[in-house]
Amino acid sequence: MRSTGRLMAAMVMLAASLAPVATGQAQEDSYPWVMEEVAPGVFAALQPSETRFGDSNSAVIIGLNEVVVIDSQADPAAVRALIAWIGAATDAPVGLVINTHWHGDHTQGNAIYRDVYGDDLEIIGHASLVEDVPERAGAFVRERTAYFATELPAAYQRLEQGVFRDGSTMTEADKEEQQAVLARAELWLAANRDARFVGPNRTYSSRQRLRRAGRTIDLVHYAGHTRGDTVVWLPEEGVAITGDLLDDLPYVGHGYPTSWRTALDSLRDMPIVSTIPGHGPVFRDDTKLNAVHGFLDALITQATAAAAAGQTLEDAIATITLESWRDRLASDDIAARFFEQSLGEAVERAWLEARDELEQ
Ligand SMILES: [Zn+2]
Repeated sequence: MRSTGRLMAAMVMLAASLAPVATGQAQEDSYPWVMEEVAPGVFAALQPSETRFGDSNSAVIIGLNEVVVIDSQADPAAVRALIAWIGAATDAPVGLVINTHWHGDHTQGNAIYRDVYGDDLEIIGHASLVEDVPERAGAFVRERTAYFATELPAAYQRLEQGVFRDGSTMTEADKEEQQAVLARAELWLAANRDARFVGPNRTYSSRQRLRRAGRTIDLVHYAGHTRGDTVVWLPEEGVAITGDLLDDLPYVGHGYPTSWRTALDSLRDMPIVSTIPGHGPVFRDDTKLNAVHGFLDALITQATAAAAAGQTLEDAIATITLESWRDRLASDDIAARFFEQSLGEAVERAWLEARDELEQ
């Protein structure tokens, strides 16, 4: 990536009272999308900073006769608000949705785009998404819903009593933190209550050039954050839409650390001007790429050493803390907490990979 410092800022906060969406459903609520025009007619739809890990960003490419959307959110309110924004910006319909990977926060909204734009809508993703959207994303939502159904009542009770699971007393700050955790869980449950899992009706395997919305759009497959990551590359505009292969904080829980690191080497060699990531703000230089690359490097090195020394997974998770990478990667407390919560999963993937036990 190289930075030209170009910033065609068209920051548009979506305010209240959006127009009714095409389904005819009145849209009283608003969704706080931040729309940023990174090249003429190419918009990043960014989640607000505080909730940026809760649901995904999108990219919107507006052509004369059609609109291309990259990634759809899990929360129906987010999807409907973005469709309303597109409807206010152009008369052209969304003709193509591209999914960067199978995670539900990037694909569950496919069903709403299908409802609104009908069977003519194409949804394209890597070939593995045909299986992974219904099976892996579906399983994830079902398991998490069941987990919350069991855990939340007890968590509310502990909060009311002001006592942690281990019997220690909560401070007022602890209680506030627990309340925030429960609020996030409730938001997730509300957004995923009626989740539908509509995968692509068109696929590609390694590389595909499209000519859509008056643009050249390249799809390039990598295995990194998941086994079916797509980087969407607009060569004429120098815009890369990377999904979670390169986003605000790497989540490795479903990832392939070594090929992920190789994928970042490929991105580094591309003449990228702007990157629209799956989560977090637009990047215009290599800072984040270098940080994620360095983190993966350290993760792979330490997990490989742990596996070679015969450490169990539990020992590896206990000893590999990568604190300096947390501090380098996390731009705020929200990201630092996300790093802490997911590091064990990252160590597990790298440890399994080092033992040649990572399933595809
Ligand atoms: Zn993801």
